[in-house]
Amino acid sequence: MQDEESFIEKLKKDEVEFLQLQFTDISGSVKSLTIPHNRFEDVIYNGVMFDGSSIVGYKQIEDSDMKAVPELSSYTILTNENYAGKTVRFVCKIFNSDGTRFEGDPRYILEKQVEKLTKENKTYYLGPELEYFLFKQDENGEPTIEPSDYGGYFDKEPLDKAFTVKQEIIRKLEGLHYYPEASHHEVAYSQHEIDVKYSDAVTMADRIIMIKSVVKETANEYGYYATFMPKPVKGVNGNGMHVHQSIFSGDENLFYNESNKYGLSDYAMHYLGGILNNVSNASLVLASTVNSYKRLVPGYEAPVYIAWANRNRSALVRIPAAPPKGKRMELRFPDAAGNQYLQFAAILGMGLDGIENKTNPPEAMEKNIFEMDLAERQKNGIKSMPGSLGQAIESFRNSELMKKIFGESVFNNLLRIKENEWNEFRSEVTDWEINKYLDIY
Ligand code: GLN
Ligand code: MG
Ligand code: MG
Ligand code: MG
Repeated sequence: MQDEESFIEKLKKDEVEFLQLQFTDISGSVKSLTIPHNRFEDVIYNGVMFDGSSIVGYKQIEDSDMKAVPELSSYTILTNENYAGKTVRFVCKIFNSDGTRFEGDPRYILEKQVEKLTKENKTYYLGPELEYFLFKQDENGEPTIEPSDYGGYFDKEPLDKAFTVKQEIIRKLEGLHYYPEASHHEVAYSQHEIDVKYSDAVTMADRIIMIKSVVKETANEYGYYATFMPKPVKGVNGNGMHVHQSIFSGDENLFYNESNKYGLSDYAMHYLGGILNNVSNASLVLASTVNSYKRLVPGYEAPVYIAWANRNRSALVRIPAAPPKGKRMELRFPDAAGNQYLQFAAILGMGLDGIENKTNPPEAMEKNIFEMDLAERQKNGIKSMPGSLGQAIESFRNSELMKKIFGESVFNNLLRIKENEWNEFRSEVTDWEINKYLDIY
């Protein structure tokens, strides 16, 4: 209880007025609860009760009393001047009413995967690249898809009209001690990227929740609307979330081996083999919306085929040129419109499966796969990722590994929720269909 006591002291010393308790539902939406200072002690020691049946993918109504307990190490003073008073944010762990950990807590699912490495004194590091669009708001402050500028990759002001927005985002992330590394205009008009320094996977998932809300809040302060939606406009690049990964033992990067042509160790090669072998089954969580699959089409720097490469940006996994400590794997498939805890658990779970089974990856593919036809891809043994949420559901359904990573109930909940989403979309009649078919048939 030493820990709790010192955190209560810390809250007093920092003159904190509110706690913001956060956790995610199965789809990655952030759930949040504000606690006034008279309840700090109670909440730090005992957590707060809530109704699990109202959280997507949590509990049935008959057995729905749950408890959110602050993870003390996630203590972060929020730097938003618009808040009424000084606020500390905690990410929570979720418990059942009998005091056991809730198996459906996305964070717990990631913690369990990471634990496999922690037991071997290894650390799993992740660095995401988060892409987003900035659109104009209408006169009522509602989001539109009207462009905010017509800049392109790495453009500066005045082409980049959101230059100061990005500076402010960086300043706020520094305030949170998240080590922002770079921010720039992306390829599409009105599209931008924010990169933060790598950290261990659970911390990174905790941070991404905050990064997304800092980007949205800051955009709003400047009269823009920020969205991480994977493909908000057709005909230009969509929003990806490339994930850079490595595994360290103390100071040693276990992915690096100087004698290998790609600078990768056997450990890394097996990890890569596991990813490529299983990744189509994880598509449902890595690209978890109907819209995700509008991004994943040829020609927009987003992967469609299962291959890896040294530099080639059409590949699903890329090995960036880097010094020994920075040797890593960049998975280019995911987007940020999902649950990052589940996404990182799936990625690590696939990699560890490869390590366990000593799965060898196929040969690297340095040619632009988008320029190959089906015959050439088949000759090279290159398979495709699911092309729709419907296909992703079918691949996921048949995967024993996914069931093992997520556990029976989350596995089934994911299937049920995503099947509903897909069926809802399938019954839509779109403008595209009306334009295409109405007058010719
Ligand atoms: N926006 C691209 C994607 O969808 C990536 C482009 C880039 O980072 N250069 O993944
Ligand atoms: Mg980048
Ligand atoms: Mg990018
Ligand atoms: Mg990248």
